[in-house]
Amino acid sequence: MVLAECLKAEVLGLPVHLNPHLPSTAEELVRCGGHVVTLNAEMTMAARSHKPLRRVIQRADLVIPDGAGVVWALRLQGNRLRRQPGIELAEMLLGHAAALGWRVVWVGARDDRLQAAARFWKGRHPQLRLERLIHGYQPPDHWPILEADLRRQQPELVFVGLGAPRQELWIEKVRPRSHGLWLGVGGSFDVWSGSVQRAPAFMQALQLEWFYRLLQEPQRWRRTLALPVFVGHVLMELAGAPLSGTQWKLARQRPATGRTGESAAEYPPVERRADKPPAVGPE
Ligand code: UDP
Repeated sequence: MVLAECLKAEVLGLPVHLNPHLPSTAEELVRCGGHVVTLNAEMTMAARSHKPLRRVIQRADLVIPDGAGVVWALRLQGNRLRRQPGIELAEMLLGHAAALGWRVVWVGARDDRLQAAARFWKGRHPQLRLERLIHGYQPPDHWPILEADLRRQQPELVFVGLGAPRQELWIEKVRPRSHGLWLGVGGSFDVWSGSVQRAPAFMQALQLEWFYRLLQEPQRWRRTLALPVFVGHVLMELAGAPLSGTQWKLARQRPATGRTGESAAEYPPVERRADKPPAVGPE
């Protein structure tokens, strides 16, 4: 088991896998079924006050360090790792899906952007089996039908871009137990559609992707405040805790029972007019 050999550390009580060998880990998760969380500072802070989100992250099969803040916190503990942006994992997985014939479903984003993202990827990989595109602004009564379809269909790869924490809670609620890899992809469909740009490489190298995003979407300023608060919490925890002993061999922990279906219901995707740009901040 590739994943079982992977080292795990913690940031503010949340697990993060260190340098998993992603292509083989992903294939293992497609085979055995798994939820992948891409952790950043904002989600970490949200999980401190939002118990269902915290539980979902703690139960996830793979948690990768998506945000610069999380990488910084792990390096402070003496861990050697590099940042693994969720969008890059998603792109790698689509390449594998095209090569291996995985059936792919996308959920989330505005319909026009989702369609544009699909055209982009079909252009790159004509053989990609994009079986279903479900935009993220469905009327509430459509969701149960779509969810039942997905459980029946059991696709190998499901990307959910509904924003955090909604996408994580929705995955926890809908994912069938035994099949396929489910990944929360945030705003990746918007990027692939060409509507939102990723930061230039030099800003990514300087760990300033979050700042570039703020420049593009200034309405996110309130969410960005989570970053200094996160830094404060990490430093406080560090002041009170020894530096060593932060890594553990991963015993793949999956609860014997349980999903948090009832809590996921607290964050059902909301209906919004697809022709109207959504507010990007939390509901
Ligand atoms: N979104 C959606 N349905 C909603 C709310 C949001 O499909 O009811 C989509 C939105 O269009 C965007 C993504 O969720 O594509 C949120 O992206 P964001 O980058 O804000 O994700 P986060 O940073 O919260 O993970």
